[in-house]
Amino acid sequence: MTNRTIQLDEALYAYVTDMSLREPALLRRLREETADLPESNMQIAPEQGQFMALLATLMGASRAIELGVYTGYSALCLAGALPAHGRLVACDLSTEWTAMARRYWTEAGLAGRIDLRIGPALETLDGLLAAGEAGTFDLAFVDADKEEYADYYERLLGLLRPGGLIMVDNVLWDGSVIDPARDDGDTVAIRAFNEMVRDDPRVDISLVPIGDGLTLARKRP
Ligand code: SAM
Ligand code: CA
Repeated sequence: MTNRTIQLDEALYAYVTDMSLREPALLRRLREETADLPESNMQIAPEQGQFMALLATLMGASRAIELGVYTGYSALCLAGALPAHGRLVACDLSTEWTAMARRYWTEAGLAGRIDLRIGPALETLDGLLAAGEAGTFDLAFVDADKEEYADYYERLLGLLRPGGLIMVDNVLWDGSVIDPARDDGDTVAIRAFNEMVRDDPRVDISLVPIGDGLTLARKRP
């Protein structure tokens, strides 16, 4: 028994997924097709997708937003957890990667639930705020430009309803956050972001060591 978060070696990780992962065949196929791309490590882990979908269901979320779509895995997990009338605004810069995403969303019958916005995420967020959508979102997932995390977060806090949840990916950055030799822009930004969220009285938080680290921040009513 341990009262510290347990380390997962390959065998224990395999046990976790064997005991809990219920990945639909379509998501598995998307993961396999993405694995052929050079940037495939950008995709979230399947157990993380399942966890985020569970949170969306628990919250009864119907309006969600994702920053950083890539080939569409996390978006598919989230959209599948929304009710039929729900909407996921999905933001990315790439038409190429999101073409693959669209193909899978259509096959899943969920394309109608996903509103893909191609362009810089900050511009999309500012557009939503300008359109009067502040306070209307239940859930947000942040996985785009790491150097912009703090700017996304401020805008998303405005877009969320009280009690809404922001989920922020890669907050452990493969352990680089505690490596003093790492001073690249992404690492420095993630460290600063983590400190800012820790000290932010507007939210309830948890840093969940799943995947590459997922911070949950609930906007306090
Ligand atoms: N969540 C995705 C998944 O589960 O597969 C992975 C997202 S990947 C780590 C990051 C994505 O963010 C890339 O597809 C990239 O094109 C996009 N991106 C990077 N900078 C961006 C920006 N400023 N605005 C919108 N999207 C951006
Ligand atoms: Ca990520």
